Amino acid sequence: MAWNVIVDSDKCTGDGECVDVCPVEVYELQDGKAVAVNAEECLGCESCVEVCPSDAIVIEEV
Ligand code: SF4
Repeated sequence: MAWNVIVDSDKCTGDGECVDVCPVEVYELQDGKAVAVNAEECLGCESCVEVCPSDAIVIEEV
């Protein structure tokens, strides 16, 4: 199963919660924003969606 990892950079405040919680290191902070640099590793667990304080992340099944 594959997943699209979508980060709304207008909403992202760069707190890094997704970077800390993701078990497969999908995210990196770049210029104060979360970027899904390893989106192909996503497991679809939605932990990042749950911890994001600004509702900036959407995970979609491909
Ligand atoms: S859904 Fe899970 S595996 Fe995918 S980016 Fe979010 S925390 Fe990482």
